[in-house]
Amino acid sequence: MEYFFTDEQKEIQHLARRIAEKEIRPVVADYDRSGEFPWPVVKILAHNDIFRVFVEEAYGGIPNGTPIFNTVLVMEELSRICAGIALSFGGTVAGALPLIVAGNSNQKERFLPDIADGRKLASIAISEHQAGSDINAVSCTARRKGNAYILNGSKKWITNAGEADIYTVFCLTDPDKGIRGASCIVVEKGTEGLEFGRIEDKLGIRASVTREIFFDDCRVPAVNRLGEEGSGLETIVKVLSLSRPSVAAQAVGIAQGAMDLAVEYSRKRRQFGKPISSFQGIRFLLADMAMQLEAARSLTYSAARYLDSCKKNRPMLPSAMAKCFASDAAMKIATDALQIYGAYGYVRDFPIEKYLRDAKITQIYEGTNQILRDLIGKIIVKGNVEV
Ligand SMILES: Cc1cc2nc3c(=O)[nH]c(=O)nc-3n(C[C@H](O)[C@H](O)[C@H](O)COP(=O)(O)OP(=O)(O)OC[C@H]3O[C@@H](n4cnc5c(N)ncnc54)[C@H](O)[C@@H]3O)c2cc1C
Repeated sequence: MEYFFTDEQKEIQHLARRIAEKEIRPVVADYDRSGEFPWPVVKILAHNDIFRVFVEEAYGGIPNGTPIFNTVLVMEELSRICAGIALSFGGTVAGALPLIVAGNSNQKERFLPDIADGRKLASIAISEHQAGSDINAVSCTARRKGNAYILNGSKKWITNAGEADIYTVFCLTDPDKGIRGASCIVVEKGTEGLEFGRIEDKLGIRASVTREIFFDDCRVPAVNRLGEEGSGLETIVKVLSLSRPSVAAQAVGIAQGAMDLAVEYSRKRRQFGKPISSFQGIRFLLADMAMQLEAARSLTYSAARYLDSCKKNRPMLPSAMAKCFASDAAMKIATDALQIYGAYGYVRDFPIEKYLRDAKITQIYEGTNQILRDLIGKIIVKGNVEV
C-alpha cells in the first residue's frame, strides 16, 4: 500500500523503526518478564528527538504540522516490536495533550519543553476505582483555597504513574455541579500529598507501568489549572479524540508484528512433507489477516490525518472508529497468528504469545470497545452527541 508520506513523515517512521529493531528488539523479553520500567530505552527515544514529534515547534517540537500522524507513526513502529515500551511514549503524549489543547502560553512554556526533550514524562489521570467507563462517577476533588487547589481522592490504572514528572489530573473543582464542575489540573511529581500505589501485575504490556495515584491534601498552585474552571470535560473529550488514533496505531503495530512472525513461521514449519505456508487453509488465514491489518492501518492513518487538519473542532467519530476497529483487528490477527504456530504458539519460548497478551489492552483502555460502539452508534443516529 502507498500512504503518500511526506519526506519528514518517512524520516520519523524510519527512525522509529530503526530504534525499535536495534534498541528494543534485543530487550523485549527481559522487560516483559521483569515488568521493569524501560528507562534506558526511553532515554534513547529522547536522545533521538522522538518526544518532539507531537509538540508544537514553539515549545521544542518539530514544525511539520502533523503531530497526530507523527505520533501514530511512532506508536505503530515501536508497538510492532513492543507495545509495552511504546506506551511510555504513548502515555506521555496522552498526558501532554491536555496542556496542548487547553494550556495557556505560560503553562505550555513551563511544561512542554521538558516533555519535548524527553527529560520529563507525562501521564493522564482520569479513571478511578468507581469511575471507569462512567466518567460521571469521578469523585476526586480539587477545592480552591486562596491561590491554590487542594486535591483529595485517588486515580486508578494510571500509565507512567511514579515514573512521570507531569500528571494532568481530571478532578472536580465544583463537586456540586458534578462532571460539569470538573477541571484538568497539572500536578508535578514531588508535590506534597501525591503518593503512588503498587505496580499492577498485568497480563500484557508488562514493560508499561500502571499504578494508582493518591492525593491527600495535595496543594497545587491555581495557575496549574488548564482552561476555565468547569472546562475539564470538554478538554478530556478533545484529548481522547486526539489520543485514540495512537491506541489504534499501537494495535496496528501489534497486528503487524504478529503477522510478520506468523508469515515467517509458516514458511519454516513443515508438516506432511511441506511448509505449512503451502496449505490453502493457512494461506486463507494469512490473507484475511493481511486484509484486516491494512484496513485497520488505512482507517488509523485517515483518522490521524483528519484530526491534524482540524484546528478547532476535534470530531470524535474518526478516532473512535479507528481505535475500535484496529483493536478488534489486532486481537483477531494476534489470535490467528498464534494459531499458525500451533502448540509452539502456546508457550513462552516463542515470541508470538506476547502479541496476543499485548493486543487485549487496546480493546479496553481509552474507552472500551463497547463504549466506543455506543458512541459511534449515537453519532450515526443523532448526527452528533452532547458533551
Ligand atoms: C493497563 C491499563 C492502563 C490504563 N491507563 C490509564 C491511564 O493512563 N489513565 C486513565 O485515566 N485510565 C487508564 N486506564 C483505565 C481504562 O481507561 C479503564 O480501565 C477503561 O476506561 C474501562 O474502565 P473499567 O476498567 O472500570 O471498566 P468498566 O467501566 O467497569 O466496564 C466493565 C465492562 O462493562 C462494559 N460496560 C460498561 N459500561 C457499559 C455500557 N454503558 N454499555 C455497554 N457496556 C458497558 C465495559 O465495556 C467493560 O466490558 C488504564 C487501564 C489499564 C488496564
